[in-house]
Amino acid sequence: MIQVLDTTLREGEQTPGVYFDSHVKLAIAMSLEKVGVDIIEAGHPKVDPDIARATALVASRITGATVAAHARSIEADVDAALECGVGFLGIFYCVSDRRLAQIGRDDLSSAIRRIADTIAYAKKRQPDLIIRYTPEDAVRSPFDNVVQASIAAVEAGAEVISVADTTGFMIPGSDRSLYDYVARFKETLALSGLFPRIAVHCHNDRGLALANALDGVRAGAEIIDATVLGLGERAGIVDLAQLLHALQVDLKLGKPWNLEALQDLYELVSRHAGVPVPVHHPLMGRNAFTHCAGVHTHAVARDPVHYQSVDPAEFGRTIGVALDHMSGISSIRWALDKLEAEVDESTQRRVLEVVKSIGRRGRTVSLSELPYIISQCSAPSEQQLPS
Ligand SMILES: [Zn+2]
Repeated sequence: MIQVLDTTLREGEQTPGVYFDSHVKLAIAMSLEKVGVDIIEAGHPKVDPDIARATALVASRITGATVAAHARSIEADVDAALECGVGFLGIFYCVSDRRLAQIGRDDLSSAIRRIADTIAYAKKRQPDLIIRYTPEDAVRSPFDNVVQASIAAVEAGAEVISVADTTGFMIPGSDRSLYDYVARFKETLALSGLFPRIAVHCHNDRGLALANALDGVRAGAEIIDATVLGLGERAGIVDLAQLLHALQVDLKLGKPWNLEALQDLYELVSRHAGVPVPVHHPLMGRNAFTHCAGVHTHAVARDPVHYQSVDPAEFGRTIGVALDHMSGISSIRWALDKLEAEVDESTQRRVLEVVKSIGRRGRTVSLSELPYIISQCSAPSEQQLPS
């Protein structure tokens, strides 16, 4: 069963300038619960006492999802996380040769010992804890290092191994394919009789996070990380709405998530993150289901399928038509229909000219201002177009 882990509250807060107060974190967590995400990663409690308090608050109030915390491979981090009452703990430690040599204090074997000891310690403290081990930057690390560390982690009590594309390095269909990596990784662990659930954490540095995540799913990954608006370090990670739609509607995987609840979630996170939803954001953007060119509007008025492959109703949204310089008479008729206004053909043509004229100045005409344009175009003494 595919599960989605939302890490807006942890990875999302690693977006420069983004910080969510505790009560906002709770509100976001409750909104994520409404969407039905399976796991909510609430924070890295050892980083800051406020983060610890917020993680504990979220863990105490959320019952419809598993609440997770993040920890380095250090017992003090594990203690801080478990004191928050979480049911899922992500422990990370990079085992690339370069990282071990330049930043870490360990060689590979002492790193592996540290990882296994920390996991065993966490499991002993809380036997029902679900533990995920993440070899950060797994895909650029020596494969054998990742395998050795993962085997030790699973034997110490980890149930999930996260294949992290920490730098957004992978490219579908190339020799850097996450599909190939996950498939080979699973096969290699299976040779040792180990079958942990595989998670994928895909960064978006090349704009390929979602494509890579779906490659991971195809190869058998069962937990996929995402954030609202794809927030996160640098270019962020997989966008939650796009992931849920692809899994649920296109691939028919996972439990039914409540896609209609995504709009409120995106508005909430956008407001408190200070990151606007781009107008052309797939699925959630203001323009995502709005048709502009007259040719498109003409066809969509007959059957939306001509220019849409996603049903806006999935998200509780409807088709829109932009009124601007690209509009045709169908656009005006669509708008009049919305307003339940009856206007004769020649007035419709005059309204279209006004709309086009306003559009050429770089603005769209809203439905609410259209009645005034109609009035102006209907009044015999004021049929002059605005200069
Ligand atoms: Zn990350």
